[in-house]
Amino acid sequence: MKVIPEKKSTEKKCELCGSDCNVLADLGNQPLANKYPANKDAFKKEKFWHLKALICSNCFCGQLNEMIDRSEMFEDYYYLSSVNAELNKHFDDFAKDLLDFNFVLDVGSNDGILLRPLKNNNVKCLGIDPSINVGEIANNEGLETIVDFFNMDSAKYIKENYGKPDAIVASSIFTHLEKPKDFIESLEYLISNNGEIFIEIEYLLNLVKKCQFERFYFDRPFYYSVTSMKNIFEENNLVLTNVKEISPHGGSLRLSFMKRDHNLKIDDSVKNFLELERNFFKSSNVNDFQKEIEKNAKDLVDLLNKDNLTIAGYGAPARLATITNFANIDINKIKYVVDDSPLKAGRYSPGMHIPIVNKDHLLKEKPDLLVVFAYEYIESIFEYTKQLGIPHYQPIPPKQIK
Ligand SMILES: [Zn+2]
Repeated sequence: MKVIPEKKSTEKKCELCGSDCNVLADLGNQPLANKYPANKDAFKKEKFWHLKALICSNCFCGQLNEMIDRSEMFEDYYYLSSVNAELNKHFDDFAKDLLDFNFVLDVGSNDGILLRPLKNNNVKCLGIDPSINVGEIANNEGLETIVDFFNMDSAKYIKENYGKPDAIVASSIFTHLEKPKDFIESLEYLISNNGEIFIEIEYLLNLVKKCQFERFYFDRPFYYSVTSMKNIFEENNLVLTNVKEISPHGGSLRLSFMKRDHNLKIDDSVKNFLELERNFFKSSNVNDFQKEIEKNAKDLVDLLNKDNLTIAGYGAPARLATITNFANIDINKIKYVVDDSPLKAGRYSPGMHIPIVNKDHLLKEKPDLLVVFAYEYIESIFEYTKQLGIPHYQPIPPKQIK
């Protein structure tokens, strides 16, 4: 592997281990990626910050240069996991691995996507999720969900009222946590002595490898490596015992942790991933990332400018904002974006203000080409969009997928 000259480190130290950080990606001025302005007055009030992704030179944890006040952030565009066929399959399969546990707690349980198959298999389970709307949907279906954040207070409440779980799951929420160490402390408090904690994360190494720069945005302060996860859990006497590759969100990992005072068997996968990261992040990959991003953004713009095509987008997830603001893509390049959430339709994309419409619009104003921003769900999207008979592209790197 190519050895590269040392990159100038930034002022900021790693939030997790205090070591120097290097700049991984500079994504320019960006708005909040989950705040969809409703009208032109709202455009004027939109705030922008400089979005830079850094990487720690020691634990390889990705993190942002700036932490935006959380109170600026959350609005009520709740996302229901269970409407998505690919995610349902993922959690149905996951539930099969959990059948031998006595009591499973799902942290960030959303609308009960994991609780449902567990309950169907008679596994005692409980969810906890801070969203009132989403928790209500799960509870109405008989999938018991505490509406709260997971922290020491709610962990104590669960212990007193339900007992200690021997399995705790937290899927796709770690990256959003502002204080991951407090969260881990509560996990360690609540898990039973021989219990197992399963954390599912998007994997920073895959994100870099696949040039998925659009996954950086202000709602997510951390982007984890296996090394960084292992280190911060160990600080709370939780040992990484296994690392498994899983499919959702394009190249994620499931990490298993257990308490240290237990006769632990550490799977070889742990050692293998640590070694992989040492080689990968010490190589040219980190320095070349910015060039890769710029090349991909240019290729996308070239595609959008081609032959005066009418182009529409499908899916307005947060990363739509990162891509369009970085590559300066507005209504002149993408006429409108379709989203399945009725709460987003009628609004505009953050920063670049591309109109968001519901999917019926595709038939009224038929495009020549569709850029699928939520490309990992292409199979379910294509069920509807195949009737258009037009090419479907993923944005980064731009290539035809259907
Ligand atoms: Zn670090």
